[in-house]
Amino acid sequence: MFDQDIAPHVIEFGPGDADLAVVCNMHGDEPTGARAIHRILEPSPEFERAVKFIVANPPASISNHRSLDVDMNRVFPGDPEADERERRLAAQLVTETANCDTVSFHTTHSTNEPVAFVSEGDPRALEIVSQLPITYVVNEASVVDGSFCSTGQVVSIEAGKVQQPNATAKAEMLIRAFLDNEGAVSEEPPMHAPVTNYFELYDKVDKPSGDESYELLARNFERVEEGEAYAKSKKGFLLADEPFVPILMSQSGYGEIFGYRGQKVGESVEDAKEAWLDEEK
Ligand SMILES: [Zn+2]
Repeated sequence: MFDQDIAPHVIEFGPGDADLAVVCNMHGDEPTGARAIHRILEPSPEFERAVKFIVANPPASISNHRSLDVDMNRVFPGDPEADERERRLAAQLVTETANCDTVSFHTTHSTNEPVAFVSEGDPRALEIVSQLPITYVVNEASVVDGSFCSTGQVVSIEAGKVQQPNATAKAEMLIRAFLDNEGAVSEEPPMHAPVTNYFELYDKVDKPSGDESYELLARNFERVEEGEAYAKSKKGFLLADEPFVPILMSQSGYGEIFGYRGQKVGESVEDAKEAWLDEEK
């Protein structure tokens, strides 16, 4: 079949062997990261360290579909022998980014403000994200399986809403910050970083089935108190049975769930390390 030899598309700039990577288009209908990379590469900047720029899922991108066979961001570390194309692509991406500090770009239905995701227990991922100008960092490990972050020194970033031009500008700003922090491109003084808040996911928020009339009331990253309504429908209000911080919640982003419940762990990378890294290891 024509698609048997599909692979992530990789271009490399700069001297030496790359140990930095910028990944886009894991979901084929999220062109934001690719547009941001194009803006950065267009003026042919000079790279002082080698960087790989990777289109993770070229066949889905060409057809403008989120996925062809399975959600690529749920099948890591992948399988080079699998029938599903995304499992094969995931395995290739892991090989391609092995030992690279990596940022991977997505867009979402839920929030305009960029959100970074890391997996618990990778100190390098925390170092990378702590230097980025980003307000929200979320550890997704306890709720999400098989994401790209789970493979190591990888930070996944939801740059903003799908197809919104300012999501491209935010992705571009974050890629530039990453390249500058890592010494790959020095062109601008370091940007002022906002206070970064660290959260962890601990559960999903299910949508009740058989009723499509729900309206979401909760706002992402604004804590919902016990007894507070977080959604309403013709049948009434959905009330929180315990306090939680809504994360990636939207009416239409997912089929079965609104999004996730989280809790805040702190406002510094030290707080996050204390909560997430096992110092004994
Ligand atoms: Zn995505």
